[in-house]
Amino acid sequence: MSRYDYVVVGAGSAGSVLAARLTEDPGVRVALIEAGGPDTAQEIHVPAAFPQLFKSDLDWDLDSEPEPGIGGRRVYLPRGRMFGGSSSMNAMLYVRGNRADYDGWAAAGATGWSYAEVLPYFRRAEDNQRGEDEYHGAGGPLTVSDARFAHPLASAFVRAAEQAGHKPNEDFNGATQFGVGRYQVTQRGGMRCSTAVAYLHPALERPNLTVLPSARAHRVVVEGGRATGVEVERGGTVEVVRAEREVILSAGAYESPKLLMLSGIGPGATLAALGIDVLRDLPVGQGLQDHYMTLLNFRTDAESMLSAATPENAALLQSEGRGPLTSTLAESGGFFRSRDELTAPDVQFHAAGLLYHQEGLGAPTEHGLAFGPCVLAPTGRGTVTPRSPRPDAAPRIQHNFLTTQEDRDCIVAGIRLALEIADQPAVADLVTGPYDTPASASEDDILDWARRAGHTLYHPTSTCAIGAVVDPELRVLDVAGLRVVDASVFPSVPRGNTNAPTIMAAEKAADLITGAAPLTPAAR
Ligand SMILES: Cc1cc2nc3c(=O)[nH]c(=O)nc-3n(C[C@H](O)[C@H](O)[C@H](O)COP(=O)(O)OP(=O)(O)OC[C@H]3O[C@@H](n4cnc5c(N)ncnc54)[C@H](O)[C@@H]3O)c2cc1C
Repeated sequence: MSRYDYVVVGAGSAGSVLAARLTEDPGVRVALIEAGGPDTAQEIHVPAAFPQLFKSDLDWDLDSEPEPGIGGRRVYLPRGRMFGGSSSMNAMLYVRGNRADYDGWAAAGATGWSYAEVLPYFRRAEDNQRGEDEYHGAGGPLTVSDARFAHPLASAFVRAAEQAGHKPNEDFNGATQFGVGRYQVTQRGGMRCSTAVAYLHPALERPNLTVLPSARAHRVVVEGGRATGVEVERGGTVEVVRAEREVILSAGAYESPKLLMLSGIGPGATLAALGIDVLRDLPVGQGLQDHYMTLLNFRTDAESMLSAATPENAALLQSEGRGPLTSTLAESGGFFRSRDELTAPDVQFHAAGLLYHQEGLGAPTEHGLAFGPCVLAPTGRGTVTPRSPRPDAAPRIQHNFLTTQEDRDCIVAGIRLALEIADQPAVADLVTGPYDTPASASEDDILDWARRAGHTLYHPTSTCAIGAVVDPELRVLDVAGLRVVDASVFPSVPRGNTNAPTIMAAEKAADLITGAAPLTPAAR
């Protein structure tokens, strides 16, 4: 039987950060349990290749239950299953959300999570190639860069948005989030900088870090009200990996709540229906949020990213870390408000020089471009529950996309913005016709199309939220020695892509776990 101080489940965005930070103390022994394997496949590291990971062995390849707000359609939900987790398959956009997200969390009881208090953790993580300033850090493990390639079709979106009257913004993570521009990316030398690359690989040689790949956690072992280990299946054998100090779940917003529930920590009625003994009755899996996204697809005669995968471009990537294959596809975008009275954005755009349709699974066969909005500050909430007591059964996931009037109004307003931008010369002069767009600008046609064409922006959060399931130090309520550290703990989904906030949360959690003094709050 193996014994460790900390057992971390999941080597994803959060788990890789924790494993690296906790083992900086050579006296601390950490086991990192990961269902997937090392991140060796080339398509993980070539930025433009990320859609090739969809439905592969490196993808958990989940589906939602039939979604009532979008005509009963199931939504494909990719998740990374490898070192780096979803940071090894994501689109690499570096976005932190809005200060209102964190100030809102703190105001609702998440003590220590205000914008001023989390900004130092964003900065500690960061090695921004633009250098250090009051918002950005330099010298941290996570390389954040300006993109090394700008596809003209993705840039056309920015010009068209400016022609429609929207202001340019060079830094969505700076003084203001509003405006349009190009995203900064988590890339180093033009290649993906996942948390495996940034944090885990440099720590792998440490004698006090034991990584167990291809090992699937089944449940947390709780004895006398304290988590003492994790039951793990590896190569057909089930063993308990013992934690002398803490068990930390970093399995992501779908799997962490499932693991808690399989351990008897969750809604009493749900657990009872599954025949699981109830240890703690907590609303685990209840506040699920995500960003529902739609992309208008247009045909063009201009060359798109469709023709990017050439031997010359592969050689350029290998030799210089440059060229179209460094593209994140969604290269540009922006943040908008659907109503004048809002002080923070509620709509985010992504724009790509490529057709992107059928949930990213419809491989493009002709040149095109795609851009569109997501519901950035959703009011809808969904659920995650175990399908069965079997640990290998995929969870039941119900996002409840577009089930609230606010969320429907938001997507309609966002699509109207997209149609306005599409009418500007910078885009209109390039477009030869619609590929997948609403039939008209009427509310009915827009909503009907949004229900059929929309998909996840891959940002599930809030299933083990601070205040409901964990305390502000991320300790599971009323269970000793057990924390959740990943996107599950966010009280609400931040207004932006969720990798950077997850890394920030894990950086902060490392200090909470070791008892280090919190970093000094930012002055502003
Ligand atoms: C296709 C895609 C595109 C995205 N694009 C962006 C983007 O451009 N920018 C951005 O900021 N965010 C993006 N995201 C979202 C972002 O990557 C995630 O929010 C973030 O990675 C979540 O981190 P996490 O630690 O909560 O979970 P994950 O990174 O998913 O980590 C969970 C880990 O736990 C492992 N695991 C799960 N269950 C078990 C178990 N039972 N036993 C052992 N191991 C287990 C998994 O294999 C995985 O490695 C994208 C995500 C996807 C999928």
